[in-house]
Amino acid sequence: MIPVSEPLVTREDIEAVLQVLESGWLSGEGPVVEDFETQFAAQLGSGHAVAVSSGSAALDATYSALELGPGDEVVMPTFTIISCITQIVRMGATPVLVDADPFDWNMNTLEALGAVNSRTRAVLAVHTYGLAVDLDPLAQKCSSIGIPLIEDSAEAHGLTYKGKPCGAVGDVGIFSFYANKTLTTGEGGMIVSSDAAFVERVKSLRNLGFGPERFIHKQMGWNMRLGSLQAALGISQLQRLSKSVQRKREIGAHYRERLEGIPDIQVAPQTNGYSENSYWVFGVVLGNSRPDARTVRRELQAKGVGTRPFFCPMNLQPVLQERGLFQNDRYPVAENLWQKGFYLPSGLGLSSDEIDYVCDQVEAVLR
Ligand SMILES: *Cc1c(COP(=O)(O)O)cnc(C)c1O
Repeated sequence: MIPVSEPLVTREDIEAVLQVLESGWLSGEGPVVEDFETQFAAQLGSGHAVAVSSGSAALDATYSALELGPGDEVVMPTFTIISCITQIVRMGATPVLVDADPFDWNMNTLEALGAVNSRTRAVLAVHTYGLAVDLDPLAQKCSSIGIPLIEDSAEAHGLTYKGKPCGAVGDVGIFSFYANKTLTTGEGGMIVSSDAAFVERVKSLRNLGFGPERFIHKQMGWNMRLGSLQAALGISQLQRLSKSVQRKREIGAHYRERLEGIPDIQVAPQTNGYSENSYWVFGVVLGNSRPDARTVRRELQAKGVGTRPFFCPMNLQPVLQERGLFQNDRYPVAENLWQKGFYLPSGLGLSSDEIDYVCDQVEAVLR
């Protein structure tokens, strides 16, 4: 069985974690976490970085720091992960969904611009599967009305938008270090921003709402701290991030070369004009004459190839429908991606022979 995502853990990674174990400083409040934050921010070339326990926690803390409330709107893609929306809904604010672009599967920028109005408090751009959202028009719009552009760069480690690192273009960037991400600490996340006041607020939120004085709390926080062992793994993985992205691009090129010619399927594009695909995962969308992704995925599974479905759009989520949200809203592009899209094994642990095996099986099923 070829797993859909096998992480790569090197001898250096293991040594780095062992060193921290031996040092005895294990908590999230210590020099290793600070070191990880400093190096992560330096790699992006701007701002401050705040390490948290997951990418989802990074989003929760960001929305909390913005103090969203009833009447506030956040413009965001429907084709994304649930983490992007839950805290908006919990805070009583209104998520305003935007359909996907059929070419690169990111939020349609023109539609997003059209959704911004006087109630909009933030725009969330999610770089999807390895290609960047067209950020410039969104950044311009946001700054013209004084609201933050948030970049969900969980899937965009090492990706650039017009040469600038994703996550450092908008006002706030969030990252995930989940096991299937290009840079992993098993579980973990990061918030990046140049706004010093915002950074102080999310630092306090991740740490029980502590203020400068110990045991005096002025806001409701959580424990969202990242541990020192995870930070050590993160530092080690950060050293070889450009190599990891290079390998992802090789995997992507290999898949494209083998699969591009198969009729009536769309494979992940190599570029969308402002970013070169960093192939966090390698996506395939089946054409109209093809069955649903579910059927094809089952056949691949029987041949030993692990796959994952694409995101189920937010407008179709039972947990949100139950709350009366998006009842009759239709997002045809995103809904088609959900029906017809899936991704192939894309982990850094994948060998070239394994890619060839996967391609042989995809060809057998789809030719
Ligand atoms: C993985 C992911 C997250 C959530 O990160 P976790 O660390 O798993 O909580 C958020 N947004 C996107 C786009 C992701 O892919």
